[in-house]
This record gives sequence, structure tokens and C-alpha cells, in this order.
Amino acid sequence: MIFCKKCGSLMKLKKENGKNSFLCGCGYKTKDLGDKKIVESITETKPPEIVEQEVVALPVVDADCTKCSNKKAYFWTIQTRASDEPETKFYRCVKCKHTWRDYS
Ligand SMILES: [Zn+2]
Ligand SMILES: [Zn+2]
Repeated sequence: MIFCKKCGSLMKLKKENGKNSFLCGCGYKTKDLGDKKIVESITETKPPEIVEQEVVALPVVDADCTKCSNKKAYFWTIQTRASDEPETKFYRCVKCKHTWRDYS
């Protein structure tokens, strides 16, 4: 979707002499876009393994960080794929924020 640079409202696609341009109610018009396709922003699907959000309310357990050798890490689990599979354990070092998963 294209928004007007002048007034901020949604612009309408208009075909003029076989060329695409966007027209706004306020009179603002984009330049000819040629044959370029209008790329809409695709919402990226986040990988299920590593949670990038800030972990605050997670329990802290004893775990050896492979990066800084710290002994304490946040701990959480994520159910992956089929529900009959065991959930994957995750740790995040409280010191260096290094995140790893427990395969055991
Ligand atoms: Zn406008
Ligand atoms: Zn660490």
C-alpha cells in the first residue's frame, strides 16, 4: 500500500496510458512506477527456536554457559512440531545473554 507523502492518506492505483501511478484525493500523484512491482512488506515469520524478546519473568536455573562459563541461566521450554514430541528446553545466560537449547 502506498500512502500520500503530502497528506498521509491511502492512495489509489491509477493506470494512465498503460503506466501505473498513484493518485491521492488531495491531488498528490506519484511518479510513474513503470513496470516495477509494488512490493508490500512481508511479515517475516520468526524462527521458533530462539526467542528474541526480553526475558524477565523466566525462572533462573543452574546451567553452564558455553560462552562465558556463567553458572546461571534463564530457563524456558517451547513445544515444537507435533504435540507428542517432548518440548525443547532453552537456556539464556543471565550474564552474557547467550541462548542455547538443551538436546538431552
Ligand atoms: Zn494526499
Ligand atoms: Zn554467558
